[in-house]
This record gives sequence, structure tokens and C-alpha cells, in this order.
Amino acid sequence: QANERESMYLVSEYAQKYFTDILWNTELGKAIGLSYFKERGFTDETINKFALGYCLDNWDSFTNAALEKGYQIKYLSDTGLTIVKEDAANPANSRKFDRFKARVMFPIQSLSGRVLGFGGRILTNDKKAAKYLNSPESDIYHKSKVLYGIYHAKQAIAKEDNCYLVEGYTDVIQFHQRGIENVVASSGTALTPEQIRLINRLTKNITVLFDGDAAGLRASLRGIDLILEQGMNVKVCSFPEGEDPDSFAKNNSLEEVLEYLNGNSKDFIQFKASLLVKDAESDPVKRADTVRDIVHSISKIPDRIQKEIYIQECAQIMNISEAVLFNTLAQIDKKDV
Ligand code: ATP
Ligand code: MN
Ligand code: MN
Ligand code: MN
Repeated sequence: QANERESMYLVSEYAQKYFTDILWNTELGKAIGLSYFKERGFTDETINKFALGYCLDNWDSFTNAALEKGYQIKYLSDTGLTIVKEDAANPANSRKFDRFKARVMFPIQSLSGRVLGFGGRILTNDKKAAKYLNSPESDIYHKSKVLYGIYHAKQAIAKEDNCYLVEGYTDVIQFHQRGIENVVASSGTALTPEQIRLINRLTKNITVLFDGDAAGLRASLRGIDLILEQGMNVKVCSFPEGEDPDSFAKNNSLEEVLEYLNGNSKDFIQFKASLLVKDAESDPVKRADTVRDIVHSISKIPDRIQKEIYIQECAQIMNISEAVLFNTLAQIDKKDV
């Protein structure tokens, strides 16, 4: 089993080098992939640092190159780099396709820098194709345990004693280029306890940055309870309508980005309480739900003194008595045990 995993690591490392080579050293790679990254504002240094690449718009050129180098189809298939379409009647007729055909490539690295899998982005804005495609779950790639960018961010997270959590690959990359290196991405999946534990070993402070598209914001709030549960301090910061950390960092100086982050990061519980109050307006039924919702978040905080302080603050924000909130807390605690 250990040997099989090692073979998967090796073929993934080969794939990363192959896609990077295509990007820099072929006419099509340069004209299509490299110019795409340049248009996004990435410098050569940044493109190299994140080992970005390009998979040609052919059916199987990567797969053929790997097979020619002696990598086995089993590992190409197990890592998902190659999609094998079996012909049951005639196994010799099975066909092989490059999963990431015609995509720019973002290698996903472990804490120690090994390539575990890839994200691949289409170059068009074709709404029919998935914008990003990721490697499938495998023995080396467990998407619930990985954070994009952790390898390049770990030192800065410890040094700054804070971690910015963003949505996407390009947010991480653009922040680095701007000079902010304590940043990782969950890459579109809901946050998991394992991912938070990865950060928790480096710092107790997380700032969650939301794209300015509102849609994701309310949906993501519940996921943040998982961070509270691990005793971490959580702030949140959203970006102006239509902006995400990538576009914002691309269009503003380091000073401006830092100023924005410092000026707009809010304590998560306070932020959520204010948002819920606004949502519920004066509807009593909705207000009751929001009280339960915020107390549910507070109930996740392990520290009793912090809990109490938050109850007091939320009572003010939501204009409700502390006694009601404490009673709700007691009920929730009873149910959870
Ligand atoms: P870009 O700036 O390249 O358009 P983004 O990073 O801003 O992309 P979002 O639409 O904000 O992308 O989505 C955030 C993250 O969610 C992406 O970086 C990617 O990891 C993931 N994601 C987005 N769309 C898809 C998809 N169709 N399938 C799988 N994952 C996706
Ligand atoms: Mn988004
Ligand atoms: Mn985005
Ligand atoms: Mn974006």
C-alpha cells in the first residue's frame, strides 16, 4: 500500500513537471496557458512559485508522454490524471483520455510540498463546462484534509499568528504576489474539521474572506461554527460587490489591501448577530429562529468566559434579554449531550 501511494506521488510529480514544461516551452503552451496567467496579472516568479502549468487541448498527449516515460496506467488512472474507458468485450480497445485536457493547471501540494492532485481551469467563460475541475479523491488526495497553499503559507501563518482563509486558488496566488503570504483556500468545498486542525497547529486566529457575491456568504456561516468548536478566534471580512480577494489584490497596493482587511474584518459572532438581526427585521417568528441560530454558534465556543461575554454582546446587538439567551444556551447544551 505504501509503495502504491509512492507510485501515485511520483506520477503526480511527473505530471506537474510535464504541465509546467508545456506552459513555458511549447508554442501552444505559451500562446494559450502562459498568456492566460499573464492576463490575470501573474508574474513569471509567481507562476514558477506555484508550479502552474497547462494541459494541451489534445485527447491524450499527457497520458502518452507519461506511458512512454514508463509510468504505469494503473497509477495514472488511480490519481485521476487519466480517464480510462474500458471496452469490456475487447480490453485491448480501452481508450485513455487526459482528464485536464485544455485547462491551466494548479498543483495542490501537501504541507510538506508534495503534489497530491490538481485543480484545472478552463480558459473560456463557457457556462456549460465546469470552470474548475479537481482531481478525484484518491489514496493520496483527500480533499477534506487539504488546504490549497498551505505549503507556501505555513511559515507566514505562524509568524503573523493569523491565517486568511479564501475561496479560490487565484485568491491565494494573488495575495502572495501582493506580499500577503498567510493565506490558504478551501477550494470551493465546505470547510472540514481536518482542514481547520491543519491551521490550528499554526495559529489560533482565522480571518475568513468572502467573495463579494453574497450568495456564498450566508451558506458559509454555519461552516464557521466548526472553527469556533476548535477554540479558535474567528473574524470575517467580505469584499465589495463583484470583487474577490484576487481582483482586489490585483487592483490595489499592499498598503490598500492591508488597510481594507484591517478596517473590515469583524468578529464573527458580532458580524453574524448583526446580519441575522437585519435579515429577520421585526418578524417575531424569524427573530426567534435567529436567536437560536446565534446561540447555537456561541454554544460551540469551548471557553466559558468567552461564551458569557458573547451572550452579553449579542443581547445588545439583537435587543433581547441576556436571560433568554442564557436559557437558550442551556437548552442547546442539554440537547447536544
Ligand atoms: P476565477 O477567478 O478563476 O474565475 P475563483 O477562484 O474566483 O475563479 P469562484 O467562482 O469564486 O472562483 O469559486 C471559488 C473556488 O471554488 C474556485 O477557486 C474553485 O476551487 C472552486 N470552484 C469554482 N467553480 C467550480 C466548479 N465548477 N467545480 C469545482 N470547483 C469549483
Ligand atoms: Mn465565489
Ligand atoms: Mn472568487
Ligand atoms: Mn476570482
